[in-house]
Amino acid sequence: MTPLRLLTGGAGYTFVQVTEPKTSALQFRANESAELRVAVCGTCGYVEHFIEDATRLWKYWQKGYR
Ligand SMILES: [Zn+2]
Repeated sequence: MTPLRLLTGGAGYTFVQVTEPKTSALQFRANESAELRVAVCGTCGYVEHFIEDATRLWKYWQKGYR
């Protein structure tokens, strides 16, 4: 597990974001983000966080995005 950057949007949504690796001083670094979702067990209240499209962010992670 690796800690990732969290961003909170104006409507209260929270996103996980990764940024393109730095390769030059004048580079515009691209970002990729995915909405952070929460699943709650209706019986005991146990909570898990997840993102819907983890495989997309994982592909960017493998390209060096952090
Ligand atoms: Zn439960």
